[in-house]
Amino acid sequence: MVAVSSLDGYIVLIEDISTFLYTRALDYQTKIGQMYITDKDMNVLGYSYNAEITNVGNNFTMSVLSYTDGRQETKRAIQTMKNDLSDGKEGYISVSVGNNTNIQISYCNLIPSDKIYFITCFNRNLTDYKIRPLLVRSMLSCLFIMFLMLAIIVYVWAISKKANLTVEKLAYEDPITHGHNINYFKEFAVKVLSVSKETPFVILRFDIANFRYFNEAYGHVRADEVLVSCIKNFESVFSERELCVRITADQFLALVLNDNTCDSKIDKFRELVNADARGRGIKYPVKFKTGVYQVKKTDTDIDVMIDHANVARKTLNAKQNQYRATYSDNIVTDMRKADKMESEMQAAFANGEFHVYYQPKWDVVSNHVAGAEALVRWNKKDGNVILPEDFIPIFEQNGFVEVLDFFTLEEVCRQIRSLFDEGKTTYPISVNQSKVLLHNPDYVVNVQKILKKYNIPEGVIEIEINEDVFQDDKEAMFKVLNELKKCGIRILLDDFGSSKSSLSILKGAPFDIIKIGCEFFGESVSDKQNMWILQKVIEMINGLGLELVCEGVESSEQAVLLKNLGCRLVQGFFYSRPVPGDEYVQLFCEKYQA
Ligand code: C2E
Ligand code: MG
Ligand code: MG
Repeated sequence: MVAVSSLDGYIVLIEDISTFLYTRALDYQTKIGQMYITDKDMNVLGYSYNAEITNVGNNFTMSVLSYTDGRQETKRAIQTMKNDLSDGKEGYISVSVGNNTNIQISYCNLIPSDKIYFITCFNRNLTDYKIRPLLVRSMLSCLFIMFLMLAIIVYVWAISKKANLTVEKLAYEDPITHGHNINYFKEFAVKVLSVSKETPFVILRFDIANFRYFNEAYGHVRADEVLVSCIKNFESVFSERELCVRITADQFLALVLNDNTCDSKIDKFRELVNADARGRGIKYPVKFKTGVYQVKKTDTDIDVMIDHANVARKTLNAKQNQYRATYSDNIVTDMRKADKMESEMQAAFANGEFHVYYQPKWDVVSNHVAGAEALVRWNKKDGNVILPEDFIPIFEQNGFVEVLDFFTLEEVCRQIRSLFDEGKTTYPISVNQSKVLLHNPDYVVNVQKILKKYNIPEGVIEIEINEDVFQDDKEAMFKVLNELKKCGIRILLDDFGSSKSSLSILKGAPFDIIKIGCEFFGESVSDKQNMWILQKVIEMINGLGLELVCEGVESSEQAVLLKNLGCRLVQGFFYSRPVPGDEYVQLFCEKYQA
């Protein structure tokens, strides 16, 4: 039994010293080498089962000397080992056996107090032979594990890259145009604007006018092609610092440099999109309704900038013939006003705040009243009067104009009926009707009902419509007007020549009367060019056999000139402002009897 202690650990209770050499702890050394335990004189006390250098009782150094080649170097090495061991050191020596075989002898004090030494001998060649396959196997295993890990890393990286691409696509790509989306736009704009503080930029928020019509008339696929063409053509016209994305439906957002080429680039972009659409068989013009926000140096929040551009765009919906609006503080004030009106209109209508006023039309030849135009007024309970220009566009937008226009028509019919019933002079009265109404399939039937209810004779009611009525579907509108004519209603085309429609609107149109504005007079009645145009317009309308009214006459010179040019009917403040119904009856229907 022996107790062993060393720096590395403890051996406790070993029955026989040789047993120690067969413990599992030394299993590996036993396989690849031999072990000896000696006393201080190097007499072998025990050895491992495969020991071949010497036996128990023999002197280890002597045995080594006889086992090895006995050369001087070997002797010196053995002496070094002995010295080391007696000095309590550990170490190793290499001795040669011959045939290029080396034995490595490692030694240490097993029990330093008792000078018991522990010696291991490895045949280097044998060791190599035994260890190499192990090493190779280990290395191969390591390589395999490394390869496996690398493969796993590559796989995970590829999957995560694919996932990232999918996420990026979902997060930044527009599925219809395959361009970028609003998320990308915001990041892009923030970057560009932050590095270009001194450069003027504008944010454009636009949509395509009547895009619903594109879908209905040409189908979704071709309508989508128009959307794609917007993105593509933007990229071809604008620089890399500029960007256009689709937000949703036909809604777009663009960041554009506001330099002196800006307008021409926008025009070019519009031309290209239209040329593309025509190439695809789409004849309907692609018109953009654009809200513009001029980015300021102090602006930081991109959402606010986009909102401002959108607010500007929304003001366009109410004004059908405008295609571009720039954000200003007035717009916000106007929108607040519009919101207020919308919230108040129903109650105001129920409370009878809407009134019909009449403005007479004057016959300059016979010099007396010849008719009137009905114009609605919102007389608020607080005494304020709101003019139709302020609320009609809002009501056209929210549809309330239908209620109001039928109310006006009915009021006029009621007035005419009471004039007839009271035996007073009754002149034809024209009523403004919004284009929203004319698109209602029940419109003509409803008009007929009102005419019937008040038993209105033919030729007394005139309906005033604007050129914008014919913007979408001219033929369908002509059909509605012809049906109205069958009910004895005369059709008046209001504000002729004031918008962008062409002269062709007069071709085959069911108009009885054309009304022109006094803008021809310009600053003075003596402007030759304007007079010439006015003269030719009057000649043309007279030549077509249509009745003509010139409105906005504010002076006797204008009235005289119009008379001389052949315009018989005029309307304007010179004769009378629009007046309430009872005043109109009192002033004109009693006084100026035919
Ligand atoms: P409009 O049909 O062209 O009506 C003529 C407008 O010119 C009227 O403005 C009238 O007051 C104004 N006016 C008349 N004479 C003169 C003049 O000598 N000088 C000037 N500067 N203006 C004159 P109002 O009543 O403010 O109506 C504006 C527009 O609102 C109308 O233009 C019409 O388009 C629309 N509107 C008016 N009443 C109705 C309605 O009941 N229904 C619909 N849908 N629209 C209406
Ligand atoms: Mg009118
Ligand atoms: Mg007018």
